[in-house]
Amino acid sequence: TALVTRRAVARSRWSRAVAVVRGFEEDCATPTERLQRIVNSLSVEMFAGLASEGASKVRMLLTCVDALPDGSEEGIYYSVDLGGTSFRVMRLELGSGSMVINKKVEHRPIPEDLTKGTSEDLFNLIALALKNFIEREGGDDEGRALGFTFSFPVRQVSISSGSLIRWTKEFSIEEAVGKDVAQCLNEALVRNGLNLQVTALVNNAVGTLAMGHYYDEDTVAAVIIGAGTNASYIERNAAIAKCRGLLTDSDQTVVNVEWGSFRSPQVPLTPFDICSSEAERNHYDQAFEKMISGVYLGEIARLVFQRMAQESDLFGSSVNCLSTPFIFSTPSLAAIREDDSPDLRVVGRVLEEHLKIQDVPLKTRRLVVRICDIVTRRAARLAAAGIVAVLQKIGRDGTLCGTTFVRKIRGEPKRSVVAIEGGLYQGYSIFREYLNEAVDEILGDDIASTVSLRVMEEGSGIGAALLAASYSSTRQNSA
Ligand code: BGC
Repeated sequence: TALVTRRAVARSRWSRAVAVVRGFEEDCATPTERLQRIVNSLSVEMFAGLASEGASKVRMLLTCVDALPDGSEEGIYYSVDLGGTSFRVMRLELGSGSMVINKKVEHRPIPEDLTKGTSEDLFNLIALALKNFIEREGGDDEGRALGFTFSFPVRQVSISSGSLIRWTKEFSIEEAVGKDVAQCLNEALVRNGLNLQVTALVNNAVGTLAMGHYYDEDTVAAVIIGAGTNASYIERNAAIAKCRGLLTDSDQTVVNVEWGSFRSPQVPLTPFDICSSEAERNHYDQAFEKMISGVYLGEIARLVFQRMAQESDLFGSSVNCLSTPFIFSTPSLAAIREDDSPDLRVVGRVLEEHLKIQDVPLKTRRLVVRICDIVTRRAARLAAAGIVAVLQKIGRDGTLCGTTFVRKIRGEPKRSVVAIEGGLYQGYSIFREYLNEAVDEILGDDIASTVSLRVMEEGSGIGAALLAASYSSTRQNSA
């Protein structure tokens, strides 16, 4: 009888754990109709965000970029790219005809305390790294134009300046909020004895768009899916009602959507979403980003594992690590895959190395695979809906010109290229497949065949240098 009772208890614990996973799976479901509703809802928010400041859940920031690189840029330019837990400095030598003659790049980590310290320390670190980099390159490149990729929401009043609205991802240097970040970098450059000035201050989504356009003029938008997520696109000035004083005589402007802060009843939060706790201050902040991007995906999976461990003994007794926030990183989540081997050896190793849980039984490893897949699939499909929403905003999703009838009048729909940068899309093949598949599913084969998603490696840094090039020559020409 004791044995029978033990078995019954084990069975009921197992079913409780399975019920947790089932519930999570249901809450994360993104059938095509739901994705379509998300597309409509985000695109409505985009319209509202262009009408007036603060009228929408997405900021729709005007970037002061009214022309994108076209391949005619020449000369040597620098860029600094700050946005995650490391930064990059880059030297780019350009020849006309979209030719990158030479590119040197250096990645540097940002010590964690500097992401929460003072802005002076952070910008000194960057300026010093740039100085050493220039010296190693021969030291005679002073006075060159500098592009600064700053991947946080910024209110710009010119191409070369802008004040930080708020930090996102892992940064929180409160005293920097409201400051002109280009000026902060310029001052640090002076402090470190460098004769270089920020010519173009750009978001990484804008940098990636610039690089995309440099190689292909059909590039209409760019998307970042890395540590954070965002999009930018080319908007007609006629469609922008707010801040008209910032618009130039050109008929278009690049808009930084800041879609990370999008939220909608169409995108329900599960109990495991990082933004779902009422207790958390600003719990809705960056809701879309927290379901899609690299800083958060591993953490969502960890929260599900933790609940399973509370409901059952599936992970055995040594589960202390499961209660440590952010211990399960997104690269670990990406290493968990179904096709590893019939006995899921890699899954066992990842759990052992990263969560210090040993000898996880095969059936639990299968559940772990399923959880990681649910998290990944929802993230990729939501990002796909975001991409289609941007295409819808600019009339490239086929809703106007996709029917045979309209085609007869207007001809074939235009080709649209979306430039993409970010580790999740570039380095995580299942994520990429899910995203591509969902874009096709929402758009339908006909229109999907007119849309290309094109990876722009190092797009944010290269794009900032390209914009520094276009805007410094514009200035010289107009001087
Ligand atoms: C920021 C965006 C940025 C994105 C991708 C978000 O957290 O708000 O400005 O483009 O991350 O790095």
